[in-house]
Amino acid sequence: MIRLVHRPTPLERCERLDALVGAELWLKRDDCTGGAEAGNKLRKLEHLVADAEAQGADTLLTCGGVQSNHARATAIVAARRGLRAELFLRVDDVHAPLPRSGNVLLDRLVGATLHPITRADYARRNELLAARADALAAEGRRAYVIPEGGSNGRGALGYVDAVREIEGQLTADASLPREFDLVLHACGSGGTAAGLALGLGRHRIARALCAVAVCDDAAYFHAVIERIIAEARALDATLGAPLALTVEDRFIGPGYAQTTAEQRAFLREVARTAGVLLDPVYTGKALYALAQLRPGGRVLFVHTGGLPGLLAEDAVLEPDRS
Ligand SMILES: *Cc1c(COP(=O)(O)O)cnc(C)c1O
Repeated sequence: MIRLVHRPTPLERCERLDALVGAELWLKRDDCTGGAEAGNKLRKLEHLVADAEAQGADTLLTCGGVQSNHARATAIVAARRGLRAELFLRVDDVHAPLPRSGNVLLDRLVGATLHPITRADYARRNELLAARADALAAEGRRAYVIPEGGSNGRGALGYVDAVREIEGQLTADASLPREFDLVLHACGSGGTAAGLALGLGRHRIARALCAVAVCDDAAYFHAVIERIIAEARALDATLGAPLALTVEDRFIGPGYAQTTAEQRAFLREVARTAGVLLDPVYTGKALYALAQLRPGGRVLFVHTGGLPGLLAEDAVLEPDRS
């Protein structure tokens, strides 16, 4: 593992949102894992980039939506480590110019090579990444492929670390609770959920875990998360059984990276009420789900980042048109 995360990230009580979400709300500020590279992906990259460097890689290959937080974090970390990065980004029209804002601005700024690909090509992304790795090998370079979201068993170990970090914070500070009734977070590719489930199985600081899907349904995510958990346990034989988790798939809205007027209004209300900035793709949907579920009890919301994506979405400011 290499050190990339500014740790421990803050663990904060957030009273100002209790009434809105119907629970005693705590925040794990993983939006603060770093500077422009911040967010949940940085914890996964500590393990993935360590593996890449151990294998002698000179280039990181990965993929995501056009405003992928994961692709941006990978690009910045690559620059920081003296590696190259190539990003396969899913777009609606491969002939249209790429956006120049948000994550894409940062990808370009740190010198990543961007490959816009169609939705159809994105469906066979792992094949395209492998083919690009082969092509680079033929040029005498060595590429390391990181899957979508950094979500494989190795990446998930970053969220086992995160739970250990939280446990350490709870133990060191008597003013913090001993345990949460629920840990809740946004789920897009399953790695965070898998790592949290394994970490919570080991450290027992929460009774329940809820992964809020921002795309795809619960059956899909249960299968994906189960596979990632098995991979992680194969890498670390000391990992025991995970905490059972719920996948909540009723708050996706119109689709991945698309929001309802209610979700956008909620995001604005949270920002004004508490100075907590959520993004429309991930954290905004996850906390919105909490506010609909109103579980009561003590809830830890893992704020997974996403600010650059928010900055590319000025539509969140528009008055509601339902
Ligand atoms: C990627 C991402 C998630 C989802 O994490 P997964 O491990 O991919 O499920 C949540 N929030 C933000 C801001 C992200 O960038």
